[in-house]
Amino acid sequence: MTYPIIDGKVRTRALEYHIADHCNLRCDHCCSFSPVLKKWLADPAGFERDLRAVRRVVAPEFLKIVGGEPLLHPELERLLVIAKSLDVAPRI
Ligand code: SF4
Repeated sequence: MTYPIIDGKVRTRALEYHIADHCNLRCDHCCSFSPVLKKWLADPAGFERDLRAVRRVVAPEFLKIVGGEPLLHPELERLLVIAKSLDVAPRI
């Protein structure tokens, strides 16, 4: 697979950001190791800082908010508003 560079940015299909390590389920096949990880939540300020940095060099088709279980993040809506306002990708 090749990743073209357009206008100085690497074009990718998706960019993933983990906002939680833990999960309320315990699937045997969990590739995120969530059943054995401690509770961890992304800090909104760090989330914004990271997205501001990455958008300078990467142009994904969509941003994937993942975990763990991202729906466990109490500030999920705030994170989505930040992601949308920064226009990191056309779709979140
Ligand atoms: S993150 Fe997904 S695969 Fe892992 S335990 Fe939770 S629901 Fe299962």
